[in-house]
Amino acid sequence: MQDFLGYVKKGDFRIYVCASCKKKIWPPFKYCPKCLSEARLLKIDGNGVLLEFTFSHLKNIVGVFGIVEIRGIRLVGSIFGGPLRQGMRVKMIKCGINSNGSPFYHFEKTNNKT
Ligand SMILES: [Zn+2]
Repeated sequence: MQDFLGYVKKGDFRIYVCASCKKKIWPPFKYCPKCLSEARLLKIDGNGVLLEFTFSHLKNIVGVFGIVEIRGIRLVGSIFGGPLRQGMRVKMIKCGINSNGSPFYHFEKTNNKT
């Protein structure tokens, strides 16, 4: 988890992938829950799908936030661009650690139709 956050802090989003069975492990954990092998942090592209979104009433999240699925993993982040709709393509444009130590993710609408 610390390794994962170390990358996020640098704006580098990586996820643990099992070195043996290639399972993607989310939330971040260093060992595969399926085969107990050690996992490695691999960079994945930030393209995902917006599953749901809403307007934030929380102080530390600006504007719209939503649930984005990237290759089977789900993240909550701020969504930029518009108009927004469920099922549209988004891309991670930024990640980092906020002042209270939690990771944050920013996504933007993409025009990629694939
Ligand atoms: Zn495994």
